[in-house]
Amino acid sequence: MSETTTTERKQFLKVAAVGLAGLLAGSAARPAPARAQAEPTPKKHRWGMVIDLQRCVLCRACTISCKQENKTPPGKSYNPVLEEEVGEYPQVRRQWFPRPCMHCANPACLKACPNHAIKKRPDGIVYIDPELCEGAKACIDACPYKVPVFDEGEVYHEGQSAWSEVASPELGLMYKPGDRNWEEKARKCTFCLHKQDENGEYADLPACAKTCMGRAIRFGDLDDPDGELQQLLKTRKWMRLKEEAGTEPNVYYLV
Ligand code: SF4
Ligand code: SF4
Ligand code: SF4
Repeated sequence: MSETTTTERKQFLKVAAVGLAGLLAGSAARPAPARAQAEPTPKKHRWGMVIDLQRCVLCRACTISCKQENKTPPGKSYNPVLEEEVGEYPQVRRQWFPRPCMHCANPACLKACPNHAIKKRPDGIVYIDPELCEGAKACIDACPYKVPVFDEGEVYHEGQSAWSEVASPELGLMYKPGDRNWEEKARKCTFCLHKQDENGEYADLPACAKTCMGRAIRFGDLDDPDGELQQLLKTRKWMRLKEEAGTEPNVYYLV
């Protein structure tokens, strides 16, 4: 890793480590990464999403904007828009729903990872530490929503286009696709954690929410009783995916 990249990583991790005391339990066998050295701060938010299925028009701009933002590998998306057929013939219809990571309160992925590479921050964001991930794929098998993707090291048009030269801001690491830092590791939606400022606030919306022209994706603080998300949940009928899995997702769907 270059000196510049290391400095950038340390700066980001200091910013991103909002109240990380105790989160590194289970990874004590390794030297503590820079994020462990940050001063813990009290929990302020519980970030989540409310996705209005009546507003979603299946344009998939959210999927594309996430790929553009995070520079995900070919064929891998953090937020596909999944489709299914519901009802019985002749009364059938198509239903679709954008599927980012649910940033579960009780994440099955975190419990399954044998390398303790998955962390849950006090603000609810669940992320995979690429320095700890050893590619066991246990999170991919354990996640009821099949959210984590496995990075096989493929890049778009290596050496032939600017795409493979542009670094991803994901987790503030600024890894370039061609550097293969994520090769043979699991990756997933981080709620665009890199867009948080030093106070743990979002200076800008996550790419998918920002891009959705129909404003189907609302992002905010689920713990704010007066916030937009709680207002929507109080006034609209909602559901969460696979409640039976017991993962307590922080992504809600308005139906
Ligand atoms: S960008 Fe918005 S409307 Fe388009 S698929 Fe995504 S959530 Fe639906
Ligand atoms: S949706 Fe899956 S990957 Fe995301 S936090 Fe929940 S169990 Fe983990
Ligand atoms: S929050 Fe960011 S990382 Fe997650 S699906 Fe949206 S754009 Fe992708």
